[in-house]
Amino acid sequence: MPTAGLMNGTPLADQIFARTTGRAADFSARTGSQPCLATVIVGDDAASVTYVRMKENRSRRVGIDSRHTSLPADATTAEVVAAITRLSEDGGVHGILLQHPSPPQVDEPAAFEAIAPGKDVDGVTMHSFAALALGRPGFVACTPGGILRLLDAYDVELSGARAVVIGRSPILGKPVGMLLLGRDATLTYCHSKTRDLPSIVRTADILVAAVGRPRFVRGDWLQSGAVVIDAGYNPGNVGDVDFDEALERASLITPVPGGVGPMTIALLMEQTVDAAFQQAGLA
Ligand code: NAP
Repeated sequence: MPTAGLMNGTPLADQIFARTTGRAADFSARTGSQPCLATVIVGDDAASVTYVRMKENRSRRVGIDSRHTSLPADATTAEVVAAITRLSEDGGVHGILLQHPSPPQVDEPAAFEAIAPGKDVDGVTMHSFAALALGRPGFVACTPGGILRLLDAYDVELSGARAVVIGRSPILGKPVGMLLLGRDATLTYCHSKTRDLPSIVRTADILVAAVGRPRFVRGDWLQSGAVVIDAGYNPGNVGDVDFDEALERASLITPVPGGVGPMTIALLMEQTVDAAFQQAGLA
């Protein structure tokens, strides 16, 4: 019999969208202009184009202006840096998002560093990463930030909990682990070189799966009553956790889709409006 409750991101994201819509309207009334998010894509990867279109559509609905820059698939690092630098210096742009992944010839970390820290609403610069590591105020990477908001909304006790994060990417695995550590969880990172992964996962009160492999985590890896955050989003709307198996063991689990995904866009919208208020000196 399934036992797990679902951690639904959609209603929680809708609350954030509603609050952000009100704040965006307030910003427009006070300044005479809308908050503005600039999106940059290098190349024409179909998934990236879809993700950016979803972010632009949501921006419009929230009252955020969006400005899009599309660079050719063979753009050089210098060209990407130049485009982002122009947006960083443009007073009409409050937030900048470079859609990941960039084509292999682009030094993506160098391109991220061209984003002015005050406009880094996707939390990808070294400045944002260091602020997160040091527990200082700053913009957080949107998916990790959304995961923490989900855990809080479902009253999951983080302090003292044993948390296992599978994945250590700079945009997802690493920062979500740092956020959990900052909230006093006892943290273990796992990755492709980890030995005997199932036995480590079995120690987790909270598991975050951020691997990018469909149904990678099996139900019998889980401790009974574990809280499972499935950040994976694989072709066919499949997560990184075998959902049906995990339902039998977990106490709470995020569905895919409808769990972590909506929270990512919600945090992006919220942080763009935060950035607009900060840059206008109204925060
Ligand atoms: P990534 O950069 O490819 O990182 C994957 C991580 O998984 C790496 O740290 C890798 O270890 C680890 N890994 C790979 N194979 C493994 C194995 N056999 N055992 C243990 N660890 C293994 O991916 P990402 O960008 O973090 O994304 C991860 C997933 O989250 C993807 O499905 C992506 O689509 C999804 N995602 C969702 C959202 C959202 O909004 N919902 C946002 C971002 C990403 P190494 O470091 O050793 O290589």
